[in-house]
Amino acid sequence: MIELTAVQLAERVQQGGLSAAEVTEQYLARAEQYRGLNALLHVDAEGARARAAAIDAKRAAGTKLGRLAGVPVVIKDNLCVRGVPTTCASKILEGYRPPYHAHVIERVLAEDGVLIAKANMDEFAMGSSNENSAYGAVRNPWNQAHAPGGSSGGSAAAAAARLAPLTLGSDTGGSVRQPASFCGVTAIKPTYGRVSRYGLIAFASSLDQVGPITRTIGDSARLLSVVSGFDKRDATSAQRDVEDYEGALGKSIRGLRVGVVKLPAGNSKSVEDAFAASLKALSSAGAELVEVELPNLEYAVATYYVVATAEASSNLARFDGMRFGLRVRGNDLNETYGATRTQGFGPEVQRRIMLGTYALSSGYYEAYYIKAQKVRTLIAQDYARAFERCDVIATPTSPEPAFKLGEKSSDPLSMYLADIYTLPPSLAGLPALSTPAGFSPEGLPIGLQLTAPAFEEQRLISVASALEAATDFAQRVPAGF
Ligand code: GLN
Repeated sequence: MIELTAVQLAERVQQGGLSAAEVTEQYLARAEQYRGLNALLHVDAEGARARAAAIDAKRAAGTKLGRLAGVPVVIKDNLCVRGVPTTCASKILEGYRPPYHAHVIERVLAEDGVLIAKANMDEFAMGSSNENSAYGAVRNPWNQAHAPGGSSGGSAAAAAARLAPLTLGSDTGGSVRQPASFCGVTAIKPTYGRVSRYGLIAFASSLDQVGPITRTIGDSARLLSVVSGFDKRDATSAQRDVEDYEGALGKSIRGLRVGVVKLPAGNSKSVEDAFAASLKALSSAGAELVEVELPNLEYAVATYYVVATAEASSNLARFDGMRFGLRVRGNDLNETYGATRTQGFGPEVQRRIMLGTYALSSGYYEAYYIKAQKVRTLIAQDYARAFERCDVIATPTSPEPAFKLGEKSSDPLSMYLADIYTLPPSLAGLPALSTPAGFSPEGLPIGLQLTAPAFEEQRLISVASALEAATDFAQRVPAGF
């Protein structure tokens, strides 16, 4: 059954060809079998079995099952699930069990999905390699010496290794797209405001979105349609109807204008080759390629790392040993705060809190934070101008395929620079997707990123589905999985 997509699996369970219980057992066994990947932090076997039994009973009673009937779902560990450990891969949240479900979890459960595990990630979603997890790095299923990407590396590795047909991640500056490209799977970062962040532990609130990571575009479209929609508990949630994402699958892209930006230097050859081949495939499918410019693209990395760290320094102030998780006692309150935060946060999180605090401090606020906000506006205006001439914009997702574990971990700046393609759509609040675009000569996957105007996820889905139909990249499975 592991060859079935989520859409196929849900249909089988709805019709009674497979029980939710047998699907759950199969995937729990895989979680156990592939523990060595370190993709999962907590497997909720008991909860999953109870849920599957309830779904089977519901069907037996004649109730129509939901759109995710019996489908196993892996959840990034920064999404709250009631009663289930939720750590953000940080020591500071050790022992924390949220008393409530995130909005997206409620939606998945309402459609009869089965949560089977929480996925490993970079601590508080800060990173591009998963090496910032307090619980050890995740391995890339295509080559276990390589990083799976980050910060949703556990979710992407789980999707690629078929530990669940559906996984959820979060994306602040690329965290569903870049790991998807490293692991040869598909991910969608929705428009800012499309998916409620209620119950997503905040990193940078003006950027954070929740998005699907799956093996096929059809499954991502299904999961996105389940989790999207207005929620009054997130003040940024968009009050508009959810577009028909599954209806966009298989739609012709004839005449669609694909904007192509002149690529900056520094891409690996295999990425440039795969990018060129994708453009060729798009034009064979009838799309029209047009040159566009995003002149402020080169400032995106600097802008993001000011805005995101500033917001993180504020959001992470709530972890002080009083309310959640770890408490390291000192002689007085201040010492307790200091000791808890020093022992609870890893080095990258501490670095970002300090950078962000600095950027917000009096005297530097105007020079860094305000300036970054202004550049952010310029980047958004670049896109607005570019979209006068095209319908979607294509770039690589990452300048290189999955790098080796340890290769960049001692050099944070080189890690930040690798986010060059995924940061700009995030800063502009636009929807963006990563779809499999080929393999390097070493057999590592490569992704293509597509960006669309706000709330035009359907365009992204149509283009990805045209590419998926034209190649076999999404059908390949890493050896041994
Ligand atoms: N790699 C980026 C960072 O480290 C993006 C992370 C994310 O999207 N959560 O901040």
